[in-house]
Amino acid sequence: MQSQKLGFEESLGKDVVRTSQCVSCATCVVVCPFNCLEYDEGEPRLVKKCENCGICPRVCPKYDWSWSKTEEFVFGRQRKEEEEYGICRSLVLAQATDAKILKLCQDGGVATALFTYALQAGLIEGVALSGLNAEKPLRPMPKLATTPEEVLAAAGTRYAYSPNMLALREGVNQKIKSLAFVGTPCQIHAIRKIQMFPLKKYSNPLQFVVGLMCTESFSYEGLFEKHIKGKMNINLNDITKMNIKGKILVSLKTGDTIGIPLSEAKQYTRASCHLCNDFSAELSDISAGGLGLNGWTFVILRTEMGEKIFNDAVEAGALRTRSVDEEPFARTLLTKLSKKKWKNFPRN
Ligand SMILES: Cc1cc2nc3c(=O)[nH]c(=O)nc-3n(C[C@H](O)[C@H](O)[C@H](O)COP(=O)(O)OP(=O)(O)OC[C@H]3O[C@@H](n4cnc5c(N)ncnc54)[C@H](O)[C@@H]3O)c2cc1C
Repeated sequence: MQSQKLGFEESLGKDVVRTSQCVSCATCVVVCPFNCLEYDEGEPRLVKKCENCGICPRVCPKYDWSWSKTEEFVFGRQRKEEEEYGICRSLVLAQATDAKILKLCQDGGVATALFTYALQAGLIEGVALSGLNAEKPLRPMPKLATTPEEVLAAAGTRYAYSPNMLALREGVNQKIKSLAFVGTPCQIHAIRKIQMFPLKKYSNPLQFVVGLMCTESFSYEGLFEKHIKGKMNINLNDITKMNIKGKILVSLKTGDTIGIPLSEAKQYTRASCHLCNDFSAELSDISAGGLGLNGWTFVILRTEMGEKIFNDAVEAGALRTRSVDEEPFARTLLTKLSKKKWKNFPRN
């Protein structure tokens, strides 16, 4: 950790934003105590003179980042070489038992079922997640959900970036005392930096974080507006679901499903995703991914807290489980995708 108090321009502006490493998580914007930054077109922008308080570089997942220190903080030890998808306690396949969740969710509805259970059991009063955008179909929007109905409405994956940290800020501003968070691996890194700092205003309410496995996210203007709407002539309002299983599968209201080869979509991958070395959200309490499964979520229980909440949700009847040994290809894929990411960008 740097001891000198650096301003935004000489730290994040110079070394993260202008080098295209900014992941768009909005953490710097959220934590600035002087409101010097605004979130503008997916990037932080100085809107008044920086007070050089030195806080934003300490929470940015791309500035002065250390895998070893963060693993020590979360797990009390560093990952061993053979732990190819990070430190974990157990792996399991799971599925929500609620039919309404299964209808709207992405894979097995584990994220939605866990947050619903946690709200109903009084473990949390809200969750920072990603909701729907009324104006732009399939464009994700950070959302603070405080009821099971709101959690259900946000089920499913939108494959563009959603800075869910803005929803965490909303929860903190509303003085909500217990919150959960769901996000992509880069957002989980930011959450851990907030906790390590610690910025108690944000870290104290956080009860648990669910990390979504993630190969990449796509530019909304590129994949959705230019390609799907522009080139493929599909009205975005006619899409009922998108999923990635070898290719991008676009399900339509007509009942048809159209495939987009990943090789065609790659041109719209966000720049910072090319630099990512965490596929499976290795620093979350619970990781969730689809991994080619149909109707089930592949779950990695990583921390004691994550394992307890998951097991309590199973015991309460919110989730059913199966052994990962029943779908060996999924585990093989997890290993392959994890290794591919961190081999390109070795860890410090
Ligand atoms: C950009 C992106 C890329 C992904 N890539 C892969 C992949 O390559 N391989 C893989 O196995 N899994 C990937 N996933 C994870 C997968 O799509 C599912 O989210 C995961 O399996 C959990 O499914 P579920 O049915 O349990 O979740 P659900 O119960 O459907 O809940 C999903 C939760 O994710 C939140 N959410 C939706 N969109 C976003 C978003 N853009 N950013 C942050 N939060 C969001 C929702 O608010 C909801 O709470 C990706 C997810 C995202 C967001």
